[in-house]
Formats: sequence, C-alpha cells, structure tokens
Amino acid sequence: MDIAANFENLKNELPPEVKIVAVTKTRDTPEILQLYSAGHRIMGENKVQELTGKKDSLPGDISWHMVGHLQSNKVKYIAPFISLIHSVDSQKLLKVISREAVKNNRTIGCLLQVHIAMEETKFGFSEEEVLGLLEGFSPGDYPGIVISGLMGMATFTGDEDLIRSEFRSLYLLYRKIRESALPVSAGFNELSMGMSGDYRIAVEEGSTIVRIGSVIFGERTYE
Ligand SMILES: *Cc1c(COP(=O)(O)O)cnc(C)c1O
Repeated sequence: MDIAANFENLKNELPPEVKIVAVTKTRDTPEILQLYSAGHRIMGENKVQELTGKKDSLPGDISWHMVGHLQSNKVKYIAPFISLIHSVDSQKLLKVISREAVKNNRTIGCLLQVHIAMEETKFGFSEEEVLGLLEGFSPGDYPGIVISGLMGMATFTGDEDLIRSEFRSLYLLYRKIRESALPVSAGFNELSMGMSGDYRIAVEEGSTIVRIGSVIFGERTYE
C-alpha cells in the first residue's frame, strides 16, 4: 500500500479548496507517518482514546479533528489540542465544549452534525433542531467555541441518487444558514461531507471538507 501515492492521487483529483481530513482510525504510527512525510497535516479520529494516544506518539504540528460521536464526559481529554469537532450533536455537548475550551484558554471549532441518512443509528440533529439551536444562539453564552459549519453522513448504500439527494439537502441547509441573519453566519464556512465511498458525489454537491480513510490507507480489516 503506497499511502503517499494514494494521498497524492486523491489530492490531485479534488478541487484545491476542498480540505482532506485523513481518518487514521485503526492505523498505526508508521502508517500515519508515511502520510505525514508526504506533507499532510490534518488527521481525524472517531474515538477519544485512540485520538489522544496517537496525538502523543506523533509530531506536534498535526491538526487533529474529532469526527466520531463524542460523549460530554470525554471532551476534557481532547479540549487541550483538538482543532475541529465535526460531530457536535447536542446543545449539552456544545456547552461542555465551550466550558472546556475556556478552561484551556482556547477556541475550538465545532460543526453541527445533521442527521441526513435513512439509518436510525447515525447521530445528529434534525434540520429543525439545527435552525432552532441557531436561532436561540448567542455567542456570548458559548465562549471558546466557533460554530464553523455542518457535518453529515449519507446512507450507506449503492444508490447514488439517494446519497446525492441527502448531500444536496445538507448543502441547502448550509446555504440557508449562511445567507440568514443568524448570529453564527459570519464564520460559518465549512461543510464536512464525503467519505471514501461517496466523496466524489459530496464534492459535486458542495462539500468543503472530506473525511477519508480507506482511499488513503487501504481497506480497514477491523473497525
Ligand atoms: C471512518 C470514518 C470516516 C472515513 O471512512 P472511510 O470510508 O474509510 O473513508 C469518515 N467519517 C467518519 C465519521 C468515520 O468514522
């Protein structure tokens, strides 16, 4: 598996403004270092324990993103260093991230995760909940965080029309918020959608950040 070559191919295929979060879950330090040596600095994990372990064993200039479901009681472990949390799925979690960011004298970027898939198991707000949260949002009540955009995961299916329509609905919500007078809209400029199986569709539908594991590192043998 030529990780550096996979990454270069992916990068060359994507529009230059689309950011790549390399999802390193289940990958070991030597594998991640191959990508690091190719110049990439944005890595993502979906579990807190794996994230903190890897952060400690890898170079300090990596920008770490949390992409998976995050429990409030674990925010304290990542607050000292995390760059962007893609998976904020409750107001309570947002409050805790704010508190921990202040404790660490930091500003933490947050994306609101929206439930767009057919599956029941994927976390996230409904569209109505996102709009409700933002309407009642007062930045002064949440020091230490910036709501920088939205994240969503499409249904795991071969039905490309379905995937496309889910991404499109998320993009429309993103646009609606950007064009609204809601208090977050100034720094609201990221739309995290697209994984190895569906990133091409996601980018066509307006994604600004793709979260890619297997296309870079090869198929995972376990979750
Ligand atoms: C694992 C994971 C990814 C990347 O998955 P691939 O299909 O390997 O690209 C993206 N986002 C989240 C939330 C993940 O857990």
